[in-house]
Amino acid sequence: MVLVRVRAGQSSLSQRVHEMPPCLRIALVAHDSCKRDLLEWARFNRSVLAVHSLFATGATGRLLQNELGLDVSRLQSGPLGGDLQIGAMITGSAIDMLVFFWDPFEPQPHDPDVKALLRIAVVWNIPIASNRATADFIISSPLMNQRYERVMADYGGARE
Ligand code: PGA
Repeated sequence: MVLVRVRAGQSSLSQRVHEMPPCLRIALVAHDSCKRDLLEWARFNRSVLAVHSLFATGATGRLLQNELGLDVSRLQSGPLGGDLQIGAMITGSAIDMLVFFWDPFEPQPHDPDVKALLRIAVVWNIPIASNRATADFIISSPLMNQRYERVMADYGGARE
């Protein structure tokens, strides 16, 4: 990660640049009502997903392993802290992309964790797909196979 200064108008802003490798570390999460949807999407895109490093919350990961034979590093189940584990990995630059099919109709027992994960993914400017159309656009992007410089505001510097 490098810190650069860019001039925007009169003021200068600090930005951090994270280089994303061509082999991405992708986190996959689906709430129960969305697991079929994620599974179908992952089945369709299996060959693309298989060349990346995959991580998933407990039950989502088990499904991807058992049904698609994908090599997935499984974390805790979402309600037991899996979402927070992924959030911590994003913060530690250990996850490059998040595919998170969250249920828009049912409140979850771990809603604060869900919100925290979605927030931290925005803070660290990683690509996030919360539905199949977005996931389709992301996974078919030419940027999937290239080095990509992910720029994020240096919030720490901005507060100094
Ligand atoms: P699960 O967790 O993959 O263990 O079901 C997902 C979630 O509810 O966040």
